[in-house]
Amino acid sequence: MSQVINYSSLKPAYNIKAKRTFTVVRKYAFLFTLMVAIAGQFEPKLGLLVIPIMIGLLIASFFKGRYWCGNICSHGSYYDSLLLPFSRNTKIPKFMQWTALSLIVMAWFGFRMGTGFMRAAESYGTADFWDKTGVVFVNAYMMVVMVGTTFSLLVSPRMWCNVCPMGFMQKLSHFMGRKAKVTKATEEMVTISDEQQCHKCAKCARVCPMQLSPYNSFNKKNQFDSNNCIKCSTCVGNCPAGILTFSNENTARFITKNVKKEAGENRGRFTTTIHRITALKGDVKEFVFQLSDESIKFKAGQFILVKIQDKPEMFRAFSVSYFDEENNRIGVTVKKAPNGYGSEILFNDFEEGMTVVLEGPLGDEIVIDEKTKKAVFVGGGIGITPFVPLVQDAIERDQIEEVKLIYGVNKESELIYIDKFKAMEKENNKFEFIPVIAFDDKWPGQKGFVTNVLEQLDLTDNVIYMCGPKPMIDASLKTLSQLGVKKEKIRYESA
Ligand SMILES: Cc1cc2nc3c(=O)[nH]c(=O)nc-3n(C[C@H](O)[C@H](O)[C@H](O)COP(=O)(O)OP(=O)(O)OC[C@H]3O[C@@H](n4cnc5c(N)ncnc54)[C@H](O)[C@@H]3O)c2cc1C
Ligand code: SF4
Ligand code: SF4
Repeated sequence: MSQVINYSSLKPAYNIKAKRTFTVVRKYAFLFTLMVAIAGQFEPKLGLLVIPIMIGLLIASFFKGRYWCGNICSHGSYYDSLLLPFSRNTKIPKFMQWTALSLIVMAWFGFRMGTGFMRAAESYGTADFWDKTGVVFVNAYMMVVMVGTTFSLLVSPRMWCNVCPMGFMQKLSHFMGRKAKVTKATEEMVTISDEQQCHKCAKCARVCPMQLSPYNSFNKKNQFDSNNCIKCSTCVGNCPAGILTFSNENTARFITKNVKKEAGENRGRFTTTIHRITALKGDVKEFVFQLSDESIKFKAGQFILVKIQDKPEMFRAFSVSYFDEENNRIGVTVKKAPNGYGSEILFNDFEEGMTVVLEGPLGDEIVIDEKTKKAVFVGGGIGITPFVPLVQDAIERDQIEEVKLIYGVNKESELIYIDKFKAMEKENNKFEFIPVIAFDDKWPGQKGFVTNVLEQLDLTDNVIYMCGPKPMIDASLKTLSQLGVKKEKIRYESA
């Protein structure tokens, strides 16, 4: 009987601070909050500027939900832009989402502001009236700055937004917009083009400032319909599968109907046991999984998803580096990411004999095209892994006349599968292997980056297949464009 992983006991850092989406407004709108809250102490009339803001956000939310909160709100900008780097960025307690709590906060603010307005009304017609009205807003802003700053630093930047009275008012206005049936065309929601291509990696949830979880909550129209979503697009910009957009209902229907579905068409779910774990280099390990009777329809260049957590269910995508059809085994090669949530689980908690669920295979970006006759493969760092089966596939295909593999790393000690590639080169005339090392003076072979090698090659009639970190892909795309290689001859995937 195989051991089952105790997923519930694994609790590394979950929420990611990095790479949130910033527009110019979202980045600098905080200046307005600070001006009203601080300068307003000396010039209370500044508080009157809040009135058009309140009118604006109520109108915007009627048509677009809480769009204002995520894109224009100056408090939101203050939390995301100024406080995020200093925040502990931990889990927002569940009770912050209770409607009852929002109502209490709303009632308290309403009482404070109402009594303030009543006091101001007593001086109606005098020079003091506008100062006394302005100060009501100035005090409200100062209160939000103090409470919001505490929440941000101690828990999570957008914790206040869960109970913000203006956020609550926007939800009511949005509700009315829906009842009036105007939001169908005007409200954009996070939309997934094809759920079959979702990696279930939870990146969208981990970067969400409101700590919502789009990936396991899409509705039948493939949209994330949550009235707490502040429409900030952060999840869209961070989805590694590139399958999220921000669309209204009509556009969502069009996208889901017309998306290319091939990449996820053979997706299956498999219960496997870990057959073996092999340490390749200090921070790289190969994991081979034994499938039961079912077989996987795998094409070289695809990736699979390895389940790393049960509740909520979460996977990590890894290129298939090993495929043994005869023995029904499939393998991936994993580099431990510093503070990586998923790779730490694989490294620390996966053991031979354990049961692990896989989903896939997925992806068609770097699967060899039927028409390719000459191929140049470019792998950077851990991005070399899909090229183990890809080189084999290319060698076995009669259509392929020649194939080169450029493999770039920083130091010689990072090279993996070097013996395997050298052996394949020895046995096959049509395969050339070119390792290239950026920072190692003692390396006797090619020095520099993969782009230096690309510059030396005649790439006419070649199709280029690349996999590696984003900076390598970006630099290679630039070089290839300078060399005049047409876009349709370039395929890539970023690991
Ligand atoms: C199609 C595809 C194929 C892939 N193939 C492979 C493969 O073959 N081999 C492989 O090793 N990987 C592969 N990957 C990458 C892999 O899926 C994971 O993304 C990778 O293992 C890191 O996941 P993680 O959960 O360990 O790291 P995460 O927790 O997601 O962290 C990623 C990075 O963000 C940083 N980070 C984490 N938390 C925070 C925080 N709070 N603040 C700031 N920064 C933070 C970490 O330092 C880390 O470097 C592939 C990815 C894709 C999309
Ligand atoms: S679900 Fe996406 S758009 Fe909505 S708040 Fe979260 S990150 Fe922003
Ligand atoms: S691929 Fe990851 S980030 Fe994109 S929708 Fe799926 S779970 Fe979210």
